[in-house]
Amino acid sequence: MAEGGVSCVMQPLWHATAAGLGQNAPMHAHDALAWTPAGWQRTAVAGATAADWIVPGIPNLHSHAFQRAMAGLAERQTNPEDSFWTWRETMYRFAARFDPDTLHAVASQLYAEMLEAGYSTVCEFHYLHHAPDGTPYADPAAMSRALMQAARDTGIRLTLLPVLYMTGGFDGRALGERQRRFGHDVDAYLRLFDLLHAGQGDTLRVGCAFHSLRAVPAEAMQAVLAALPADAPLHIHIAEQVGEVQDCLALRGARPVEWLLANAPVDARWTLVHATHLTDAETVGIARSGATVAICPTTEANLGDGLFPLHAYLDAGGAFGIGSDSQISVSPVEELRWLEYGQRLATRHRNIAVRADSTSVGETLLRGTLASGAHASGFAIGTLAPDACADRIVLDADAPQFAGMQPGDAVDRWIFSGNRNLVREVHVDGERVVAEGRHRDRERIAARYRRAMQLLFA
Ligand code: ZN
Repeated sequence: MAEGGVSCVMQPLWHATAAGLGQNAPMHAHDALAWTPAGWQRTAVAGATAADWIVPGIPNLHSHAFQRAMAGLAERQTNPEDSFWTWRETMYRFAARFDPDTLHAVASQLYAEMLEAGYSTVCEFHYLHHAPDGTPYADPAAMSRALMQAARDTGIRLTLLPVLYMTGGFDGRALGERQRRFGHDVDAYLRLFDLLHAGQGDTLRVGCAFHSLRAVPAEAMQAVLAALPADAPLHIHIAEQVGEVQDCLALRGARPVEWLLANAPVDARWTLVHATHLTDAETVGIARSGATVAICPTTEANLGDGLFPLHAYLDAGGAFGIGSDSQISVSPVEELRWLEYGQRLATRHRNIAVRADSTSVGETLLRGTLASGAHASGFAIGTLAPDACADRIVLDADAPQFAGMQPGDAVDRWIFSGNRNLVREVHVDGERVVAEGRHRDRERIAARYRRAMQLLFA
């Protein structure tokens, strides 16, 4: 429950406002310095002091928690043609080792790390549903519950996205042996969705993820969309690989984004993950639909996916957010920095992300990231407004990076001045879960993670 006893769950017609705080409210010297879409302002924030520099908590729009345990273990060449597809084989072998206990331990470690880095909400794109041979657990939601427990234990706000995964390719082939634990038919999927959705609470929302067009036949997508509640967030991996764009063209007669825009009611409920390979028309089409693009710059770089056309997309007014995805980096700072740096390397220009309303790259990226969080997660997050979720970060104003600086430079300093974590406190749902840069339960969670890693690698 948000401070003041008002639930911060987003209403279906809720829209993030550009002015997060009362712009005309009188300023007081004892008010905290708070970041708003209009820049830094002195404003009263419950529980904060004049020394605090406050930013809304950062939404992480795309996460596969189990992959935290394999971060750094796919960096040896297995084939001169190594690509996303050979990485995926490594990932499948690793995914086969998890059970609910090890998933809980790994997700807890990950979520504590996310909180320490400044992510206060995570959208978990969850497809490890069944036992490794594909048999459902006695409780068909056992793996989902492991993730929900990890979120409760750590205090992170969770949008759980159970994934519908039905086929091994656009041709409708059956799932491969290592994909069986991901699979449902439509009826079994909707039973799982209903079970999870009934447990929604103040810090838990349940949305729907379609794994990808190659894994979900068109009729199945339509059947699920017709059955879901009207306010459920919808996520999909859309165009990460050139190979899947080619297969989609061959078998559905259109590129993935082109097909989705023509065949699904794409609007602000939708988050398109890895919309990497786009034509100009698709770029503009997503922007006009109101959907959010979830960009995962460090993972997309790590996997050699390609580069999202950020500049054209922002020119078209598109909404975007970031995700830690494969967890090779758990840092909103690094995601935002590389979102900009990728564009600089490709264009040989600087300061690409800025729009007409600000010359600061950091502020532009932060503003966009926060503005998309509500639609993508289903929570009223991304602002410090009194009726929004009480989620905030307190930056370490005493850090050397901020010495002698005007507040107007703080976001650029935060994002573009190195790797020391400048997040001092994190509050979720009005509760402080990180103090002095450390999660309140860091040691116990890390000890359990070490035991789980011993089991996973035994
Ligand atoms: Zn993903």
